[in-house]
Amino acid sequence: MKITKHSVATIEYTLTADSGELLDTSDGHGPLAYVHGVGALIPGLEDELEGRQGGDVFEVRLPPERGYGERDEGMIQDVSRQAMPEGAEIEVGTQLQAETPGGMHVVTVVEVGEDHVRLDANHPLAGQHLNFKVQVVGVRPATPEEIEHGHVHGPGGHAH
Ligand code: ZN
Repeated sequence: MKITKHSVATIEYTLTADSGELLDTSDGHGPLAYVHGVGALIPGLEDELEGRQGGDVFEVRLPPERGYGERDEGMIQDVSRQAMPEGAEIEVGTQLQAETPGGMHVVTVVEVGEDHVRLDANHPLAGQHLNFKVQVVGVRPATPEEIEHGHVHGPGGHAH
């Protein structure tokens, strides 16, 4: 069967930056299973998977607007060092969970000053082209429970 809304698709994938740096891969974790059409993956990758079937292999280079979006300089903010969680190791590259009006958000420390810390709330992959190599391993219909939860139960998904 073909991948369409509310299919469970199982994929192997490798994600690299334009520099060739490996950003993410299913290799070593086992294939990824997800419910198609509920926003589980970035939009550009779901678009590319639509209509594919088991055994399909493809490569795609997604621009930022089809991936994690453009970088927004407005999401860079200076906070006082006192506002940092106590005992946390703060250095450039440290990632912290921050509570924002939009929910929990990962922020990255991009600068450490004497009494301030500069935080970047952009997604670490915002502004980047994403080079995916994908192999579709299998496709099946989602169960009503999986559709309700928005994620897969069983192999490659949630066990709960
Ligand atoms: Zn569930």
